[in-house]
Amino acid sequence: MAADAEPYAVCNMPYARGAGARLELYPPPKVGTIGSVVPRIEQLRALPSVDRVLRTAEAQAALARFGHRYVTDSVRTILDQLRQGLTTGAVAVPPPAEEVMAAALAHMEASQRLTMRPVVNATGVVLHTNLGRALLADAAVQAVLQAGAHAVNLEYDLGRGERGERDAHVEEDLRALTGAEAATVVNNNAAAVVLALNTLAEGREVLVSRGELIEIGGSFRIPEVLAKSGARLREVGTTNRTHVADYADAVTEHTALLLKVHTSNYRIVGFTSAVSLPELVQLGTQRGIPVMEDLGSGALVDLSTYGLPKEPVVAERLRSGADLVSFSGDKLLGGPQAGIIVGRRELVARLTRNPLKRALRCDKLTLAALAATLRLYRTTPDLRAVLPTLRWLTRPLAEMDAVGAAAIALLRDALGEGFRIELAASESEIGSGALPIENLPTRVIRITHPHEGAQEIARRFREAETPIIGRVQAGSFLLDLRGIFCPEDLVPKNSPE
Ligand SMILES: *Cc1c(COP(=O)(O)O)cnc(C)c1O
Repeated sequence: MAADAEPYAVCNMPYARGAGARLELYPPPKVGTIGSVVPRIEQLRALPSVDRVLRTAEAQAALARFGHRYVTDSVRTILDQLRQGLTTGAVAVPPPAEEVMAAALAHMEASQRLTMRPVVNATGVVLHTNLGRALLADAAVQAVLQAGAHAVNLEYDLGRGERGERDAHVEEDLRALTGAEAATVVNNNAAAVVLALNTLAEGREVLVSRGELIEIGGSFRIPEVLAKSGARLREVGTTNRTHVADYADAVTEHTALLLKVHTSNYRIVGFTSAVSLPELVQLGTQRGIPVMEDLGSGALVDLSTYGLPKEPVVAERLRSGADLVSFSGDKLLGGPQAGIIVGRRELVARLTRNPLKRALRCDKLTLAALAATLRLYRTTPDLRAVLPTLRWLTRPLAEMDAVGAAAIALLRDALGEGFRIELAASESEIGSGALPIENLPTRVIRITHPHEGAQEIARRFREAETPIIGRVQAGSFLLDLRGIFCPEDLVPKNSPE
């Protein structure tokens, strides 16, 4: 199905080029040699003074760029290192002022580098929580840049010239895409669940099946989140089997909500039975209790139309009668981190009136990215062409083979003797609990060396200027090609020593 997708010639890291300067300091003093070498007084005297270094031509440009204080501090840092190096013998001769200034400049440039920087995701995990989950579509990136650089009508109704609603920028598209009466957005799906439980069930009971009391990576545990929201958990059924009668028997005048949780990161197999959403909705309607579903990943479109395993679609869950459905913005949806709640107008209105909504609301950058992403869902015939998450998930094997063959040629040159580098078939995970059981067939480059372990090879790639993150599996280092569009991206460059 995905095989007819256009090959994407675009590099996957258009913003990462030229990021970060190389750190070039003088060698640090070798610990343990102090005292074993007589300080070379003459050498130390020959070291240029701070003033002398600041009089070099290079210093003038640096002073204009970084200011007197920072330049002076940096020159002192380098001179201190040189003094120690000369004392221990790690540095043989005092360098001229120009060289000291060049080192200070490199130091200053390296300090400009932020700790969070682009990495190459060669793990094969499409939605990798530790690597920031979904990559934004180009339209969403542009929207973030615009919103960041300009004043925007975030909460301003341009028609009436008065205060507006920030959710208005996404609500109409969310309604159109899910069929919901209303929608609201908070910082992530965990926040969405907390807001809903606190609003609808504070001081009252929420019924949840024991088979759905899950923990999602990063310490989101349904029982703990429920407790923190001020609601009381009432467990029903057993781990492997829950029947609608279990819910019905547990309903009392204290029951405020029936909560269904999509067990997105595990599956119970064997002698099992779960209550379907329509059954739960029927019970809720009879007893006048709202039903909410925490969908977790929440696909906006049916992924099986793209040849992928089926994941619950938000619109279908609402059609099945859920009063509220919550899901993440940065999982299968492929947008920014956000928690989206859609459903009945009257319930959503209660959520937005809760003071907690103010504490959990999204900023303009998130809303800009989300609005642009949702608009793509409404207006693009083939989402694979615009959404990186779908592009990765549906990546044709032939495309990975081609990128892999080119990357192997480059890696053979770059890594040198002794490495065995080969293309192999493997499986990649979707990640973030989405489609947990279904792995996708993929292609990897397997790199082994007779004397270097997989962890050492992994470190070599991780320490590149643009770090390359692969995975270690069965004692081999693997670079998964699912998210690699430029062979050059897999070649570790300029690793600072
Ligand atoms: C991922 C997930 C969450 C947490 O969502 P975040 O957006 O990461 O806060 C909650 N519930 C389920 C079922 C999930 O899969």
